[in-house]
Amino acid sequence: MNPDPDYSAAYVVLSDGECEGHGFAFTIGRGNDIQTAAIRALEPYVLGRDVSDLGALYKEMVYDSQLRWLGPEKGVMHMAISAVVNALWDLKAKRAGKPLWRLLAEMSPEEIVGLVDFRYIGDELTPDEALEILRRAEPGRAERIEKLLETGYPAYTTSPGWLGYDDEKLRRLCKEALDDGFKQIKLKVGADLEDDVRRMRIAREVCGEGFPIAIDANQRWDVGAAIHWIKALSPYSPHWVEEPTSPDDVLGHATIARAIAPIPVATGEHVQNRVIFKQLLQKRALSYLQLDAARVAGVNENIAILLLAAKFGVPVCPHAGGVGLCELVQHLSMFDYVSVTGTMENRVIEYVDHLHEHFTDPVVVENGVYRAPLAPGFSAEMRPESIAAHVFPDGPVWRDS
Ligand SMILES: [Mg+2]
Repeated sequence: MNPDPDYSAAYVVLSDGECEGHGFAFTIGRGNDIQTAAIRALEPYVLGRDVSDLGALYKEMVYDSQLRWLGPEKGVMHMAISAVVNALWDLKAKRAGKPLWRLLAEMSPEEIVGLVDFRYIGDELTPDEALEILRRAEPGRAERIEKLLETGYPAYTTSPGWLGYDDEKLRRLCKEALDDGFKQIKLKVGADLEDDVRRMRIAREVCGEGFPIAIDANQRWDVGAAIHWIKALSPYSPHWVEEPTSPDDVLGHATIARAIAPIPVATGEHVQNRVIFKQLLQKRALSYLQLDAARVAGVNENIAILLLAAKFGVPVCPHAGGVGLCELVQHLSMFDYVSVTGTMENRVIEYVDHLHEHFTDPVVVENGVYRAPLAPGFSAEMRPESIAAHVFPDGPVWRDS
């Protein structure tokens, strides 16, 4: 589905005169200028404003009655809100001198509930139920913070499984992923069924029975084609099937999930807001929820999504990769572990080994785990020299290409 990505980001810097908050919307090339214009439309919400109450400010942006017409709560405008909200959280965490996961993990259940917009999800999750989930996780938070610092959070890698690698390379990269200590790998599928059957067989041979091998179709199929394709791969026991069809097709996902059971369905990187996640959960259409840090409206809406997933008992395994998405989602999973679900069981954060060198506080993945970030902020800040080199259209990378 994405044959020619040119990884890009519409990048936001907010300054309060002492500290800077950084945020971005990840795009894959054309359209990044549209994304940037959408972010600019939000300037009145932050310039010269008191930004201490991020629950209130987030809702103000989402309910701008004119900008809302462009969504509501989906697409370019929603991603713009995400970039700004995440930059505000980066600023807040830097001012507090804490990594974001820890800032959130040390907030009271009442404060966390105050960050969430319950409109449209109250039929499944009320503020009182959210409080109950968070209060249940309160005992043991300090111990879990210690454990996280000690052991990190499990990661999986997509590196072996890109389409277009020959069989020898697939074999070698699977072996490397095992040697590197990853607890799971993922193969991209959906271009050619015969190829996929062979690739899956090779990956299974190298990784062994029982090792989790997920597959990712990136929205390639209609419902019927998805069922047919996945059944052909079922002898190799896929750990989950990711994005089998359109991210908007809640009922289609439910049909696929029933038809391919017990193989689980995973989705979320293109799910536009908490409402669609609510429906996917209500219809038991997904078994793994793959939130994205920069598609829904930033940290606040992702807290709503984490709470919904906890209510339904569905593990969250965030989407990452892109530009800086690994850097962001680690904070959300770690907050989930400490303050929401209290467990890392059956949960992994995606890891893709590229573009981390552009960030001032890049992820540290060792022996198959994300080490908990320690630097203040949301790990969202790119290095000034990377920004200067890549800024469109005048940066040297563009000028000289
Ligand atoms: Mg994917």
